[in-house]
Amino acid sequence: MNKKQIEDFKKRTVRKPKLVWDVLTNKENIQVDQLADDYKFYLDQAKTEREAVAVTTKKAEASGFENIEDSGNSSGKYYRVFRNKCIALAVVGKNPLSAGARIIAAHIDSPRLDLKQNPLYQEVDLAFFKTHYYGGIRKYQWMATPLALHGKIIKADGSSMDFVIGEDETDPVFTVSDLLPHLAAKVQSEKKLSEAFEGEKLNVLIGSHPLGGEEVEDRFKLSVLQFFYEKYGLVEEDFTCAEIEVVPAAKARDIGLDRSMIGAYGQDDRICAFSALHAILGIDKPESWAMAFFFDKEEIGSDGNTGAKSHFVENFVSDLLAKTGEDDTDRNLRRALLNSMAISADVNGALDPDYQEVHEKRNAARLGYGVCITKFSGSGGKYGSSDAGAEYLGTIRKIFNDNHIVWQTGELGKVDEGGGGTIAKFLAVYGMEIVDCGPALLSMHSPFEISSKADLFMVCKAYRAFFSTE
Ligand code: MN
Ligand code: MN
Repeated sequence: MNKKQIEDFKKRTVRKPKLVWDVLTNKENIQVDQLADDYKFYLDQAKTEREAVAVTTKKAEASGFENIEDSGNSSGKYYRVFRNKCIALAVVGKNPLSAGARIIAAHIDSPRLDLKQNPLYQEVDLAFFKTHYYGGIRKYQWMATPLALHGKIIKADGSSMDFVIGEDETDPVFTVSDLLPHLAAKVQSEKKLSEAFEGEKLNVLIGSHPLGGEEVEDRFKLSVLQFFYEKYGLVEEDFTCAEIEVVPAAKARDIGLDRSMIGAYGQDDRICAFSALHAILGIDKPESWAMAFFFDKEEIGSDGNTGAKSHFVENFVSDLLAKTGEDDTDRNLRRALLNSMAISADVNGALDPDYQEVHEKRNAARLGYGVCITKFSGSGGKYGSSDAGAEYLGTIRKIFNDNHIVWQTGELGKVDEGGGGTIAKFLAVYGMEIVDCGPALLSMHSPFEISSKADLFMVCKAYRAFFSTE
């Protein structure tokens, strides 16, 4: 081959990942910004799984989705909320459900601090809440930073109340104090990072003004109880029947002089939840049924009645079969699930410029390079991964290429460096095809995760294309 022929050959055969910014049209660049603004608004409204369910319900209803529990079936668009912590949406296809649905499944829980059931105490004349962290956090990232409380409490009379403190500009915030460097040498600095910060010390500072004079016992704790009693009618026992989540108090923000990125808490996995929601709300009369699932509990292993290991999927699909007059026998339900194609919509860790040594660069996902197809997750030799088949990867590649989706592949870190899992394997048990597809994030699992606006745009486009495919 001569020089030109080699160049041509190279163009035809060598895969070169594309940067999304390089392929966007002017019109698309405007859409990128609009989408990013919608997404930031969503993130600020949906900082907990319950809030994500509420926002999703509202948006679904506004787009004509009906609660599957309601009578009537005119719209062909249904949703189900389960235990206020997970939700599913479905759009009826032209093909029967037993032919299989196109399913996108994301999770709406994020790492955080949860209050314990007996949270309130005082120590050296300050009042605190005890916490137990939820999901994989780096403990030091939660210290010396403003935090907000998002709570659901069931009172003794059975009534339920929600509260949020720390999100409004005029609200107070809370924090976990950290040690001054002058005194941190022995108890923190000289220790291994994994031992330097104890979960039991992630106590949230909530007050310092006592109720009454010196003669009053527990007056700092009492002062906190006074606030909750006067404002919400709560007593201490009510905390035992509550879920109070401590999350970063900051709002989602643009990052960079060019405003090309978004910084916010909870983007794992609400960037995928938002994109899946955006995609399914835009679908009308697809060839195959379209479904989006938004699960809770992924960050602690998908256990529990609202996690992906529960029977939420089959219960919903079974009821959809009945609702739309299809054969709703167990056999047909199994057929519907088996014939489905799914995307486990979750994020991957982007190649970190400062810690490139934990990645294998040829196979690491990069910020700005579009939706990342993650064939396998797991750790220590793919252990615990559902590991998608070549045939299905081929199907996804064709959908993406046919629809001009900028995509990349990724794995979570070098071999034997660490790893992680997603909900893919819990849907794979039905026999359906499934693979992880989502954007890559920097600072993943931190209180301020970083995404690319270009990736957000491409992920929404990719999910839409997936739903639109027969
Ligand atoms: Mn995730
Ligand atoms: Mn995660």
